[in-house]
Amino acid sequence: MQLRVQAPMLALAYMALGIGRRTVLVTGAAGFIGSHVTDRLLAEGFEVIGLDNLMTGDLENLAEAGRDPHFHLEIGDVREPLPVYAELIFNFACPASPIHYQSDPFTTLTTSVLGALRLAEQAQARGVRIVHASTSEVYGDPLEHPQRETYWGHVNPVGTRACYDEGKRAAETVFMDAHRTRGADVRIVRIFNTYGPRMALNDGRVVSNFVRQAITGEALTLYGDGRQSRSFCFVDDLVEGIFRFATKDEINHRIINLGNPQEISMLELADILGKVVGVELPVVEAPLPPDDPKRRRPDISLARSMLGYEPKVPIARGVAMTYANFAERLDRDGVTRGR
Ligand code: NAD
Ligand code: UDP
Repeated sequence: MQLRVQAPMLALAYMALGIGRRTVLVTGAAGFIGSHVTDRLLAEGFEVIGLDNLMTGDLENLAEAGRDPHFHLEIGDVREPLPVYAELIFNFACPASPIHYQSDPFTTLTTSVLGALRLAEQAQARGVRIVHASTSEVYGDPLEHPQRETYWGHVNPVGTRACYDEGKRAAETVFMDAHRTRGADVRIVRIFNTYGPRMALNDGRVVSNFVRQAITGEALTLYGDGRQSRSFCFVDDLVEGIFRFATKDEINHRIINLGNPQEISMLELADILGKVVGVELPVVEAPLPPDDPKRRRPDISLARSMLGYEPKVPIARGVAMTYANFAERLDRDGVTRGR
C-alpha cells in the first residue's frame, strides 16, 4: 500500500495544499472509527491531517485515504505538542478495547488526560473547535437505565477498567473546564459500543471475537452467562451522528450520547450471527471479566432532537457486512476458514 508519511512540517504548507478547504486534524486516524471519520471528511471536501502513533491502528485502514491528495499522515503522539494547525480537531486517539487498554494502563490514562490537555490548549489559544470521543464507559456499570447524558455514572475508580473509564472521565473534565473558563468550543461524544468493517481482528471485543471465531470454526467465547446486554451501533450510523454534531454551528448541549438504542444480550448476538452465517454456532463459556457492566443502552433523545440523528442499520445487516469484511481480510492473511 502506498501512503505518504510526512515528517512534521509547517501547518502553512498543509493550508496551502488545501486552499479553499477547511483543515481538519483527526487524532487516532489509523484506528477503526478514526479511519471511517477520515474517509467521510475527505468525501465532504476537507483537507485532512491524520495523527496516529500506530499503537492499535493499522495503516491498511487508511488505504483509501492514502490515495487522496487532500490527506496527510503524521506519525506522532497526541500527548506531545501538536505538529500542525487545524481549524477543527477530532480526538479519537486512545486504545478502546479492554485487552488493548489494559495491556498498558498508564499509557491509556495518559493518552486520555495529557491528550485532552494538549488539545484544550489549542482550543483555548486558537479558537479551534474540538470534537472529543468519549465513551459510554463513563457511566460504568450503570444504576440508571437507559443512560442519559445527565447520569453521573457508577465507575470503580481502582478496578482494571479504571485506566480507561477514569481517563475518559478526566478528559471530559479538562474539556468542559476549557469551555467554562476560556470559552473553548468543545463537543463531547459519548460513543456506545460501535462495530463494523476495519475493527482490529484481534482486539478482543465481542463482535470481532464472535465474527472471527465464526469464520475460523472456533466456538464463540461467551463470557459469564451471556445475559449481559449492550446496544451495538454500526459504524456508518455513528459517523453520521459525529459529522452532524461536529459541523453544526449552534448547539444546545456540549455532551451527547451517540449509539443505537437497540439493546441485546450476548446470547442474542450469538444467535443473530448464527442466522447470518446460516448455521448454529457452538459457544463455550468463559469467566466474566471484573467490573463488566451488566447492561447498557443509550438514551439518544438529545441527539434526535438536536441533530435529527437516527441510526439506520439493523444489527443483522451490520453483522453481515462486518462478517464479509473480516472474511476478506482473513483470506488475504491466509487464515484457514473453519466452515
Ligand atoms: P482503535 O484502537 O481502533 O483506534 C484508536 C487509535 O488511536 C489507533 O489508531 C491508535 O494507534 C491511536 N492511538 C492510541 N494512542 C495514541 C496516542 N497516544 N497518540 C496518537 N495516537 C494514538 O479504537 P476505536 O474503536 O477506533 O476507538 C476510537 C476512539 O473512540 C477512542 O478514543 C475510543 O475510546 C472511542 N470509543 C470507541 C468505542 C467503540 O465501540 N469502538 C466506544 C466508545 C468510545
Ligand atoms: N464478551 C463476550 N465474549 C467475548 C468478548 C466479550 O461474551 O469474546 C462480552 C463482555 O464480557 C461484555 C460484552 O461482551 O459483557 C461486550 O464486550 P466488549 O469488550 O465488546 O465491550 P465493552 O465491555 O467494552 O462494552
